[in-house]
Amino acid sequence: MSDDKPARTIAIVGAGPAGFYAADALVRKPEACRIDIIDRLPTPYGLVRAGVAPDHQSTKNVVRVYDRILKNDAVRLIGNVALGRDVTYDELKSLYDVVILALGAQSPRQLSIPGESLFGVVDCTGFVNWYNAVPGALDLAKEVNANAAVVVGNGNVALDIARLLAKTPAEMDQSDIDPGAAQAITDAPLTDIYVVGRRGPMQASFTSPELSEFGELAEAAPVVDAAVVPETTEGVPDDQKPKKEKNLRILKEFAAGDGAADPRPVKVHLVFCASPVEILGDERVTGVRFERNRIEDGRAVPTGETFEIDAQLFVSAIGYRSSSEEGGPPIDDARGTVKNENGRVEPGVYVVGWARRGPTGVIGTNRNDAREVVDQIIDDKVAISKPGPEGLDALLAERAAVTTSYEDWQRIDEAELAAGSGGRPRVKFTRIDDMIEAAKPD
Ligand code: NAP
Repeated sequence: MSDDKPARTIAIVGAGPAGFYAADALVRKPEACRIDIIDRLPTPYGLVRAGVAPDHQSTKNVVRVYDRILKNDAVRLIGNVALGRDVTYDELKSLYDVVILALGAQSPRQLSIPGESLFGVVDCTGFVNWYNAVPGALDLAKEVNANAAVVVGNGNVALDIARLLAKTPAEMDQSDIDPGAAQAITDAPLTDIYVVGRRGPMQASFTSPELSEFGELAEAAPVVDAAVVPETTEGVPDDQKPKKEKNLRILKEFAAGDGAADPRPVKVHLVFCASPVEILGDERVTGVRFERNRIEDGRAVPTGETFEIDAQLFVSAIGYRSSSEEGGPPIDDARGTVKNENGRVEPGVYVVGWARRGPTGVIGTNRNDAREVVDQIIDDKVAISKPGPEGLDALLAERAAVTTSYEDWQRIDEAELAAGSGGRPRVKFTRIDDMIEAAKPD
């Protein structure tokens, strides 16, 4: 920040990867700016904390990059401030020269099939929030108390959920999974986990490192029907071939391994070309009826043939969307994103990350995405005229909002790290009040 140059005031809503990469791109520009990164939780890092699987700790090392951004004098973290609850979208627009929406896509996409209201039906948001100890997450201990689980979807989120359901306590030891969730999974009598994709193995969006983990589990074996694994990647678009070849190699190994005969007691069945058409049961899920698909030009076409899988837990992991809030940013319902044109929402308002392009890519994808949008902000030469941080502080003080700073987060972090033991890196707080208490200086 420069004292002699007027600085553009910028609010970034959402302290996840997309928000941090936007802040980083802004502070690298010669134009002076003052950035407030606002998050509804008292803690930063968005999906790195709340979405990345708790047993993928190395992925979480990226927060060191975000910490460096927070140490820049031009950047403030303001946690525990929710858009729509503590400050409205219109207020933010009136307070800051530029508003950047980095809201992610937090609503699960819906299957809309009969039986979705039965006990034992869970969506990916609920499941991931539970094992990642996100404040407000429902306790799913009773739901996972099942002999068999169906996880619908063939993305990495479906694999994360299936893998965690299949892990032993020792395998979760080095993770920061919510201890209650770990205990519930340990106590569950699960012997069969079905991961079901509507298209074929070559259309699955999961990636090979995540797929290969199913071959390395202590008490669970992957089961793949050799008949569904193609011989080659013929027909796969050229740009996707390298990735799909890796998946194919792993799936062939799994199919050859005869998982059904494996002595490990838990089986993870990878089932392809089937769409759920009905979740069965009276009060609790007892099974799922599927319709088989055939693949035509890469698309799933229903064949009319059905089959059932007995299961007491049903998890849908079929992607996410941004949802509309009254008075909030405009939503493109068909795409499930904030309405935008190359990141521009309306004069002075921009969107980055999943809220801009939908829930695709890896964490690093958000870096280029943010750079593109920041280049547009600079090109647009938005006028410097609004109060920014001082204006927000006054408004939040008037509302007696309890907020958290970066220093507060560091105290929360310290308390969580101190609660970790053995190989467990941390025990996360699950209640906002406990976070706020831990944030207080001694
Ligand atoms: P995703 O990769 O888009 O997968 C969604 C899955 O749901 C696809 O298999 C899709 O099938 C299926 N699906 C969608 N609508 C369906 C329907 N009506 N019926 C049946 N299946 C349906 O999304 P995701 O798994 O939620 O992951 C989101 C993003 O986070 C991805 O970019 C992912 O790579 C990333 N992520 C990465 C990691 C990691 O790197 N370890 C971990 C977690 C998430 P179709 O393909 O047929 O549409």
